[in-house]
Amino acid sequence: MDTNAVPKKSVETDFTASSDAKCQRGKQFESKNISELLVIEIFAGTARLSKTAREAGFQVLPIDKSSSRATQIFVASYDVTVPEQLDALKELLETEAQRILAVHLAPACGTASRAREKKLKSFAKRGFKIPGPLRSTEKPLGLDGLQGLDKIRTESANLVYSATAVLVRKCLELNILCSLENPANSLFWFFPEISELLDLGFKVSFHNCMHGGNRNKLTTWWSTKDVFSELAVLCDAGHTHAKWNPTPVGNSLSFPTAEEAAYPFLLCKRLVAILVQHAIELGAENPIDMEEQLPSGHVTSHRWVIDMLPKGKLVKPLVSEFQSYKNFIIDVASDPEQSQVFKTLPKGARIVHRQLQWGTIRVDEGLYTWVTNNKSYEIEAQSPLLDKIQLGETMQAELIAVGMPRDPWDFLARAVEAGHPRSLAVHLNDGVQNMLRENFSEEPHKVVKARVQFLKTWTARCKELEQAERDLHDSLEPHLRNVLEGKRLLLFKEILISLQYPDTELVDTICQGFPLTGWMPKSHVFPPHMKRPTHSLDAAKRLAKGVNHSIIKQVSEQSDPELAAEVWNQSLDEVSKGWTWFDDDGGTEGKILAKRFGLKQGDKIRMIDDCSVGGFNASCGTSEKFRVHAVDELAAYMCWCMTNLGREAMQQVVGKTYDLKNAYKQYGVRAQDRDLLRIAVWDHEQGRVRLMGTNALPLELSGPWARFCASQWLSGTLEW
Ligand SMILES: [Zn+2]
Repeated sequence: MDTNAVPKKSVETDFTASSDAKCQRGKQFESKNISELLVIEIFAGTARLSKTAREAGFQVLPIDKSSSRATQIFVASYDVTVPEQLDALKELLETEAQRILAVHLAPACGTASRAREKKLKSFAKRGFKIPGPLRSTEKPLGLDGLQGLDKIRTESANLVYSATAVLVRKCLELNILCSLENPANSLFWFFPEISELLDLGFKVSFHNCMHGGNRNKLTTWWSTKDVFSELAVLCDAGHTHAKWNPTPVGNSLSFPTAEEAAYPFLLCKRLVAILVQHAIELGAENPIDMEEQLPSGHVTSHRWVIDMLPKGKLVKPLVSEFQSYKNFIIDVASDPEQSQVFKTLPKGARIVHRQLQWGTIRVDEGLYTWVTNNKSYEIEAQSPLLDKIQLGETMQAELIAVGMPRDPWDFLARAVEAGHPRSLAVHLNDGVQNMLRENFSEEPHKVVKARVQFLKTWTARCKELEQAERDLHDSLEPHLRNVLEGKRLLLFKEILISLQYPDTELVDTICQGFPLTGWMPKSHVFPPHMKRPTHSLDAAKRLAKGVNHSIIKQVSEQSDPELAAEVWNQSLDEVSKGWTWFDDDGGTEGKILAKRFGLKQGDKIRMIDDCSVGGFNASCGTSEKFRVHAVDELAAYMCWCMTNLGREAMQQVVGKTYDLKNAYKQYGVRAQDRDLLRIAVWDHEQGRVRLMGTNALPLELSGPWARFCASQWLSGTLEW
């Protein structure tokens, strides 16, 4: 069989919306991979939408006040009614804006439900407590005279609705796709701050039963961009519905509205298919095998240098999963995966694309075609809809593309063709290849000449900058002057600029001191990977009040005098070098403590500052995964040289390892964090706990350090 008949991307391209729309929208996610994009679900509940999005390869962040309803997924805990936590969430949106594909919010509709208007007389007569309405279209903030629990519940829901409006506005400001969901008749839509938003976006209504739900619940899905319109399907009355009647549980009534709160699986799949489509329209890539996944030539070279391996956690298989794709057309209310036809497909067949469309079916010489929007798709004759409908009738249906798994022989042939994964990974970028070629195949005297030239140029520049460097050093914060003494910061900055190094703010950060709390600035050299602050700085300070006492107590319980003496000696040595200083008057009020202790490693004693114990690390957020290059990079270089320059190129190569002495201590801490962090250490001589402040980077915090290493790595690789 000729497997080349199906172009790799045929499924995506066949299904994309009109190319006009593409151009108008711009390419927000150009050169990003689906696996880098983030989907945020707020008021996630069971987080079913997040789980479905995760299966499609997105990164997800479900958020809720508590994670009790969700299983097998991490739900981040934020209570949006607490102003500080709402701010933290807004900050998260700002920090991650460039890779957020969608934010979805589904605030609970309990207090806004129209079901409360039902009289339920027969139950009332039998003595059951019947919930009454708490709001009306005239009084969307709550009826007059609400009391007790009703009043409390309504007021706290109002806080949630206000916060929802704040988050939607934030998304609008950041141009992030944001959607809201509630029952169509919910009084939530009349809540003033929400109703003011509605004209700024697009509203779609549908019956849940047409997307896999059990009941004919009419749902409204509002969003800031017009991407969900295909979901607008109303009940076709072609099926039965579960009843809405409440069931008695003890003295009270249980309402089925709660069961309807979690989205039906089919709805989740359709929503995620829309999101995938939207991401692709905005330039994101959805690779089907590892070769496609590896960064290609159009990615700027400096980024390439750092990201040799595919980003994100999911590495695609060497051979794509599917041999071919088949299109089916199916009625909207059915879940294709539950249909008879689907069950006859080979094991491993999977829906790779789906879209609800209006169209007609045509037959020409036994070939069935689905015609929609001036496009036509050949569909399988066993499509479940074909026996139900009239040819030529215009109707709404779901077009699905199913990937058919490769047969074993085809798979083997492809695997042989793809070769060993090493040959893909050794695909180094031009800058690195030139460097390797110059160093290992060029005449040695030419290499030496080039290096001398480099040094000459920069030595000359160094002289020119002397006065400016002095002025810069004089302008630094006093605590940084000592730490950065003798460093040619302006020269370093110019070298990085000349190499087009992406972390353009590195030297400025060095001059201000590295931040240790809040969101770390992006370096643009590491793959995206979010670790949000577990709590805000204010919360960390409040927690510290209780924790500091126990840290002091822990440090005062020294059991190994030899260890304690060595830690103390090393501490004194640090102070003499100006890296740290004793703060004997400040006390612990308003400070966050770290714990210093010694660890025996062989015959050496290493000093450790535990910054997590007092909550310092937890108040720090990072948007990137720090990776400092290691032996795999070296191996890839050697492999490339032996393949491209001949085996003899590597014969006389010797290695040398440089160890940066006290490397961390070469850079300083931002003033506000210097004020905040204190290290508790045992004074072996006086037999008491002393507090130390730090001018230089503490060992425990690796973020700033990785940023510096990356810059050294790049300049070292390309120029030496
Ligand atoms: Zn229905």
